[in-house]
Amino acid sequence: MGDYLIKATAFNGTVRAYAVQSTDTVEEARRRHDTWATASAAMGRTITVTSMMGAMLKGNDKLTVKLEGDGPVGPIIADGNGSGEVRGYITNPHVDFDLNSKGKLDVARAVGTQGSLSVVKDLGLKEHFTGQVPIVSGEVGEDFTYYFVNSEQIPSAVGAGVLVNPDHTILASGGFILQVMPGAEDGTINQLEERINNIPPISSLIRDGNTPEEILEKLIGPENLKIHESLPVQFKCECSKERVENALKSLGDDEIDDMIKEDGGAEATCHFCNEQYHFSAEELQELKTEEQ
Ligand SMILES: [Zn+2]
Repeated sequence: MGDYLIKATAFNGTVRAYAVQSTDTVEEARRRHDTWATASAAMGRTITVTSMMGAMLKGNDKLTVKLEGDGPVGPIIADGNGSGEVRGYITNPHVDFDLNSKGKLDVARAVGTQGSLSVVKDLGLKEHFTGQVPIVSGEVGEDFTYYFVNSEQIPSAVGAGVLVNPDHTILASGGFILQVMPGAEDGTINQLEERINNIPPISSLIRDGNTPEEILEKLIGPENLKIHESLPVQFKCECSKERVENALKSLGDDEIDDMIKEDGGAEATCHFCNEQYHFSAEELQELKTEEQ
């Protein structure tokens, strides 16, 4: 089955919950950017959380997440929207370290433990929301937890995990977000905290075949959970040859002439998906606004 996420509530609407299986999505990102294991996990966790944050938006709204630590992978950027489409990249994809003391991919070492996590939401009608917090652990999930609590004032728990095969392909990837709304009872919060502390890592749950529904049942308890919606999730970039053409046109005729004379064409690569676009001298000639 392809990747998807679910939106749910629990405890009479006082808890909002999201869970996603993102294995294929993260594998697509890995394949496109040729990330090595630790970088795959860092980028994959960020993309996974971004997919769920996108699902919190309405209609055509979208958001951009930027995780900018002082570690060797450099900034990680991910975009998400309300349709389950997500894309992202990592500045330095060829980063891989030994497993950390817990036997997990050492994401904090790759991302770094100093820096910032920022979120920009494009809510249409020129309305933007921007939030930024310092990186607190570099493990990604904890950093988003800190973001929700401190930037959006919503007590939350965020989990995201990626397991990588020996050949560097993605074995399993997934995540969850639990958010406590005003009016939640102390008993509810205590119960959730205990379950979160005792649940196996999300990536192992996905590897073992648990669906997003089953993961939320484990986190919340089947008797409390109310699932509202299921949404397919996929890596999808909005770039196209036409968009690159428009970007080239905006450079102006002189610049285009230089490309024709000096390079005999042009090549552009999309940061987000690593797609390459080639333009021959003839194609460039047609992009000029003033025909000669
Ligand atoms: Zn692209």
